[in-house]
Amino acid sequence: MLTRRDMFKLLGIATGACLSPALFSGCAINPVTGRQEFMLMTPDEEIALDRKQSPYQFSNDYGAVQDQQLNAYLNQVGTQLASISHRPEMPFSFRAVNAPYINAYAFPGGSIATTRGILVELDNEAELAALLGHEIGHVNARHTAEQVTKGTLTSILVSGAAIATNAAGYGSYGGLVQDLGGIGTGALLAHYSRDNEREADALGMEYMTGSGYTPQGMVGLMKILLENGQRKPNAIETMFSTHPMSEERYQTAVRNAQNTYGNMLSAPDHRERFLDNTAGLRKIKGAITALQNGQTAMQQKKYQEAEQEFNKALQIAPNDYAALLMMAKCKMAQDKPNEAEQLALQAGEVYPQEARSHAFAGITSILNKKYEQALQQFSTYDRLLPGNPAILFFQGLSLEGMEKNKKAANLYYQYLQQVKTGTQAQYAYKRLQSWGYIK
Ligand SMILES: [Zn+2]
Repeated sequence: MLTRRDMFKLLGIATGACLSPALFSGCAINPVTGRQEFMLMTPDEEIALDRKQSPYQFSNDYGAVQDQQLNAYLNQVGTQLASISHRPEMPFSFRAVNAPYINAYAFPGGSIATTRGILVELDNEAELAALLGHEIGHVNARHTAEQVTKGTLTSILVSGAAIATNAAGYGSYGGLVQDLGGIGTGALLAHYSRDNEREADALGMEYMTGSGYTPQGMVGLMKILLENGQRKPNAIETMFSTHPMSEERYQTAVRNAQNTYGNMLSAPDHRERFLDNTAGLRKIKGAITALQNGQTAMQQKKYQEAEQEFNKALQIAPNDYAALLMMAKCKMAQDKPNEAEQLALQAGEVYPQEARSHAFAGITSILNKKYEQALQQFSTYDRLLPGNPAILFFQGLSLEGMEKNKKAANLYYQYLQQVKTGTQAQYAYKRLQSWGYIK
C-alpha cells in the first residue's frame, strides 16, 4: 500500500513544502501567519470533520449543561473574541459541558467546549477570555489540519464514529456489552505540538487584550493549570495530554503581560459579571469535586469509594445528569444491572435530549433481559445522535434476545460493514456464520 509519503513522491511534492501553489489545491495561506503551507484539509473539510466528531465528544462529556444562561454567556464572551480574530467567518460556537474533569477544547470548525471542572476554577471573565481565546487560536492557526497533514491524526479521520470500548464488569456478557462512553476521554480530539500550544497562547493573549481584557487573565489561567496539575493530576490529565507544558506557558504569560501588553494591565477583568453568570455552577462546586474524586476512584477500580463520592455529589445536586450516569456505571461495575438501569432511566428523564444515557439504559436493559425496552432506548439514542455503528450491534443483540434472528442477522451484517475488528465484530461474525449466512 502507498504511504502518504510515497504519494507525495509520486506527485513530486516534498512533504510540508508548497512548490507550486497554482497546481496543488493542498497549498493554502495560513490565516494567522499569512505564509503558504501545504495542508491536506480545506476549511470546508475542517467544518465537516467538526460537525461529524464534535457531537460525540460533547455527548461523551455528558452533554452541554442545561443552564441556558451559562451557555449564552459563554457564547457572548467567545463570539466577541472570535469577531476580532483571524477567522471571524468560521462558524464558532461555545458551550459548557457537564464533565467534571478540567479541560477546554476546540474542533477545527470552531465548536468549542469548556468543562464544568475548569469553569469552577476560574475567578473572572478575563481568565475565561484567555481560555476561549486560546482555543480560538488553535482553530485559527489550523492546528488540527496541521496534525492531519503530518499524519499524526489519521486515526480520527478513519475511525469516525466507530467507538472503541473497554470491557468492564458486565457479568455474563463479558466484553460484549460495553458502554458507548468507554472511548477514552478526548480520543477524538487533536493532540497538539508544543509549538501549537505556544502559538495558541500567543493568539489567546492577542484576542483577549484586543477585546479589552487585562492580560492578567492569561496569567491567572496559567496559574490555575499549574496549581491543579500539582494538586489533582487525575482531574487534569486530559488537559495535559491535549495542551501540554504549563510551567513554561505560565512564565511566558507573566513576561508578555508585563512587556508586550503592559499598557493593558489596568484594563478590567469583569469579575462581577463572571460571578453573576456562573453563580448556579459555583453553587455545586462541591458536587463537581466529588465527581472528580469518584472518577479517579473508578479508574482505580475502588468502586465503593467511587459510590460514596457519587452519593456526595447527588446529595448536593440530586438531579445532576452526569452524577446519575456515573453512579449507574459504578453500579454496573459492581454487577448490579437493576440499580444501574434505574439510574440510567432517571438520567434520561432529567436530560432527555442527551443521547448517552439512552444507550446506557439500553445496555442495562439487555442485561436485565428487557429486550423490547432496550430496542426503544437504542432507537432514541440513534435519533438524537445518528450514525454510531455500535448501535446497530446493540440493536442486533436485543433482537437476538427476542429470538428474531433474521432481523438480528441483518443488523449484525450492517454493523460488520462499518466495523471489522473487536469483540463485538467477532461475535457478530460468528453469529452470521452459525446461522448459515456466512460460510
Ligand atoms: Zn491548547
